[in-house]
Amino acid sequence: MAEYDYDFFVIGGGSGGVRAARIAAGHGARTALAEEEKVGGTCVIRGCVPKKLIHHAAHFAEELEDSIGFGWTTKGVAFDWATMLKNVIADTEYLSGIYIKNLEKSGAELIRSRAVVEGPHRIRLLADDRVVTARYILVATGARPHMDDTVEGIEHALCSDDIFRLDRLPKRMVIAGGGYIAVEFASILAAFAVEVTVIHRGAEILRGFDGDVQKHVHAAMERRGITIVTGDRIASIAKREKGFAVKTRGGQEIETDLVLFAIGRRPNTKGLGLESAGVKLDALGEVVVDAMSRSSVDSIYAIGDVTHRLQLTPIAIREGHALADTLFGNHAVMVDYTNVPTAVFSLPEVGTVGMTEEEAKILLPAVDVYRTTFKPLENRVAGRDERMMMKLVVDGDSGRVVGCHIVGPSASEIAQMAAIPIKMGALKSDFDRTVSLHPTVAEELVTLRTPSERHRRQAAE
Ligand code: FAD
Ligand code: NDP
Repeated sequence: MAEYDYDFFVIGGGSGGVRAARIAAGHGARTALAEEEKVGGTCVIRGCVPKKLIHHAAHFAEELEDSIGFGWTTKGVAFDWATMLKNVIADTEYLSGIYIKNLEKSGAELIRSRAVVEGPHRIRLLADDRVVTARYILVATGARPHMDDTVEGIEHALCSDDIFRLDRLPKRMVIAGGGYIAVEFASILAAFAVEVTVIHRGAEILRGFDGDVQKHVHAAMERRGITIVTGDRIASIAKREKGFAVKTRGGQEIETDLVLFAIGRRPNTKGLGLESAGVKLDALGEVVVDAMSRSSVDSIYAIGDVTHRLQLTPIAIREGHALADTLFGNHAVMVDYTNVPTAVFSLPEVGTVGMTEEEAKILLPAVDVYRTTFKPLENRVAGRDERMMMKLVVDGDSGRVVGCHIVGPSASEIAQMAAIPIKMGALKSDFDRTVSLHPTVAEELVTLRTPSERHRRQAAE
């Protein structure tokens, strides 16, 4: 008889957990996965997928405006939030079904239950209150929205999950935060004519992004009617007969219909039993892991949003795949976190990969920056007064392109492709000798001739 019920027990059926379970089962490991909600997790059910589809819906608002210059008549065109949302949710259900089919096809067993850890090899399944054992346990329980309990009336605020449950659009929305989710939903809701106010504690939105990206997106959001308050935080939310009154620490008072908090996400480790099994958690509850995703307990691993690394779907998937290969595929795989491309699905969108100008100036003695802003061809005919921003950050000594930052149409798609040469170590001269594809916006990346900035670190005395 086998020593354990399973070789591999995965807790959490999101992006990372499902990938790990499928690959492990494919390697012949006796694998089970427990999921307490819908299979697919944050990305499929309440994250990337529905968000990107709603972003697409918002895009039509701008396309319709632009189409008039191209001869279209749009009078009488109307948007219905409920129809859009119903169709988007139906698509997430469809994708969840595909996830389940793929899991089953791989040979992994799907268990519909909350699971808690009771020891290095013991898991309790709460649905039918039974205990199973496994040689390795993988914690892939993801994260949930962080709601700031120090804010009076925080119980009135929505989190990003709630946007996918709204039966109708509000007239006014206040959004706390200045990161991915705040910027994306502010842009999306404003495109649907919601009056949006963003309240961000920092000096500039999108901390960690290239400074030119921050400024360009900030200005574009304001052009779309979004009010951005920086250097302030929400202090209280009070219910009114109609809507809410938001007070900030800086003394502003704003009347609104809804308040959304998008101030980061916290790991789902509460009540998971990890501490009692000896697993070390950090201050915010994230599972502390080494480069191979192993926790402080040899038989317990963790991947994805529940750890202290990047909270992005492709990262959770990579970590899950790498772990399954390492444990059961006879080759150790370590995830490489350099040059991870990322996008912000704002309007206009952001696509970025590699070092920002600010990072490069710290890390490299010589940095050349090539920046351009231009009006995409169609904007002139459309009468849209908006420029696109593209930027290459280059190591001034080696000529290597170390960063690419784009704001404008198709920025996310271009950044994905730019990530390949940057990962390969392409030089600026490789970009230069690439013939442009005309007329596209992406061709600007291969026609940047003169540096807009040259930074040289002074040699120490
Ligand atoms: P999850 O996908 O969260 O899966 C964890 C699963 O574990 C959940 O299904 C949960 O129900 C289950 N679970 C938790 N505890 C237990 C338990 N005790 N027992 C059983 N099951 C349990 N990333 C991108 O790359 N691109 C984007 O455009 C993007 N957009 C986003 C938009 C929003 C609004 C949000 C919130 C996130 C977005 N992300 C995006 C981030 C991305 O969704 C996450 O990084 C990714 O889903 C993390 O995957 P995971 O497997 O770690 O966790
Ligand atoms: P982010 O980490 O992107 O942003 C959090 C924002 O909230 C920051 O502006 C931060 O300010 C602010 N903040 C943090 N704590 C407080 C507080 N107590 N009071 C007021 N403001 C606060 O988190 P999100 O919630 O937007 O998204 C979570 C994660 O999900 C992202 O980091 C990303 O990894 C992932 N995601 C990815 C997307 C994509 O790939 N397109 C889309 C959506 C989410 P400060 O800058 O000062 O720290």
